[in-house]
Amino acid sequence: MIDTPTEVVVVGSGPGGANAAAALVEAGRRVTLLDVGNEDRHYEALIPPQSFIEIRRGDPAQHRYFLGDEFEGIPFGPVGTAAQLTPPRAYLTRSTRELLPIISDDFSPLQSLAVGGLAAAWGGVVGPFSAEDFEGLPFSFEEIRPHYAAVVRRIGVSGPTGDDLAPFYGPLDGMMPPAEIDGNAEAVLRRYARHRRRLNAAGFHLGRARLAMCTEDRPGRHAVQYRDMEFWADTDRSVYRPRWTLESLGGRSNFTYLPRRLVLSFEEPADGGVIVRMRHLDTGAVEQLGARALVLAAGTLGTARIVLRSLARYGARVPLLCNPYTYAPSINVPTLGAPLPDRRHSLCQLAGVLEADRDGGGLTHVQLYSYRSLLTFRLLPQSPLAFPEGLRVMQLLLPSLAILVIHHEDRPTGEKYCLLHRAAAGEEDPLEIRYTPSDEDRRRQDQNERRLLRHFRALGCWTVRRIRPGHAASLRYAGTFPATAEGRELTSDAHCRLRGTRHVYLADGSIFHRLPAKGLTFTLMACANRVGAHVAKVLA
Ligand SMILES: Cc1cc2nc3c(=O)[nH]c(=O)nc-3n(C[C@H](O)[C@H](O)[C@H](O)COP(=O)(O)OP(=O)(O)OC[C@H]3O[C@@H](n4cnc5c(N)ncnc54)[C@H](O)[C@@H]3O)c2cc1C
Repeated sequence: MIDTPTEVVVVGSGPGGANAAAALVEAGRRVTLLDVGNEDRHYEALIPPQSFIEIRRGDPAQHRYFLGDEFEGIPFGPVGTAAQLTPPRAYLTRSTRELLPIISDDFSPLQSLAVGGLAAAWGGVVGPFSAEDFEGLPFSFEEIRPHYAAVVRRIGVSGPTGDDLAPFYGPLDGMMPPAEIDGNAEAVLRRYARHRRRLNAAGFHLGRARLAMCTEDRPGRHAVQYRDMEFWADTDRSVYRPRWTLESLGGRSNFTYLPRRLVLSFEEPADGGVIVRMRHLDTGAVEQLGARALVLAAGTLGTARIVLRSLARYGARVPLLCNPYTYAPSINVPTLGAPLPDRRHSLCQLAGVLEADRDGGGLTHVQLYSYRSLLTFRLLPQSPLAFPEGLRVMQLLLPSLAILVIHHEDRPTGEKYCLLHRAAAGEEDPLEIRYTPSDEDRRRQDQNERRLLRHFRALGCWTVRRIRPGHAASLRYAGTFPATAEGRELTSDAHCRLRGTRHVYLADGSIFHRLPAKGLTFTLMACANRVGAHVAKVLA
């Protein structure tokens, strides 16, 4: 038994675990956070705090992080799940193949055992759920609203208020002013203003993105410095990473962070509390830690493994959701030939919403990115031209390239699920995933994408092609133990407590019964904060 005085064990340091832990620690509970906690000790120190252009012009060692010391940053084959992961961020997926095995023909998820989980590389797009998005959950937008505000204060969110997207996101208190947008986005927004009335009538709405990125200094972090290096480094610490939260908790006497622990299972002894079993990854020793409550935030798939193993539900199917996702590289024609200023950030510039037509389905969300710092060579495998011609054409078009990233909502069906298999001795239990969208879903998504791209054409953006990088590629996973009002097994209750347990709570994507297209991570953090606040109150 590990000898750390603990009231609550939190598993996982991603957005869910970090925010649940923060709420518990702030409420005075003694918390131990168990994590595998992989880090990058190789590339971070190599990247100077300079802009992309300064680095390209001046750093003789830039090939080391742009291409990777093993040239691991050069993509071969089709665009896949990990397309955005640059060499300095590749540690995110380290050891997941061995420790978190997946069996699937049609779903290749990105899993992370890093400090900060997937959010060590996330793009920071914040899409608060509206009151309608909470329908069917046993808690409402109004119950989550103070937790949204707590998360905004903790992580720093910038964005506009009262724009065309506000009705789809609900009110969000405490944001910093929106980030500057680049010339590409400005041109699109100007055209949108001209055609706004007609586009709105057709169900299309556009605005600046809400981002988990500081536009004002705050303790330990800087306002964004517009260096266009966000895919490579966190030199200005403006984009939220869960490790900033861990750093701030690290100074508190009631918080302990224990990395290198792979949590295996939990049990609830008859005399009370919870015992968590884990393996120390350096020594191989199996350890135990007792607490009064357990908060699982190992990511949707990681938590599914721990729950199904602990409840001995090998072979039980649980639902799985993941936003369907399409990229559409487009040429922003009115900006052809325009200069490309150095000052910019690399994250999402504009966000848009397409309302469902009378054919039904939920909202479709789109994000507009410019393309530069991910480097031209990554695009070349997508070009129909031979390498030298392709490179020349790409270099000319690059300043006017707008990447439209389209997300669709997802709902559970009997054809999207996962189940845990018992492994042979000495191996890890594999999670089998089946994800087959219906023909009707595919048809509707295709139709909505065509509608959306027609609107972008009216804004000057001509789509070159549509790329579907695979079912798991949106990197947003959810829905395994949904919070429901009715007491079905393998679900969670209104406080996100796993049914059939007394003290085990869920603080990641597991609890969502459907996935709106807008991205779950910000709401996941608010729900995790609420779980932390609730558990703290129960223990008090
Ligand atoms: C490139 C990229 C861009 C993205 N952009 C966006 C975006 O713009 N907007 C958005 O809403 N979402 C985005 N996402 C998705 C977002 O990152 C995830 O939704 C979010 O990180 C999920 O948080 P989580 O805490 O549930 O799990 P994770 O982030 O997966 O964290 C899981 C944590 O659990 C730990 N863990 C797992 N298993 C165990 C175990 N058995 N024992 C101990 N510890 C364990 C891991 O070490 C990790 O710390 C993006 C993701 C990526 C990769």
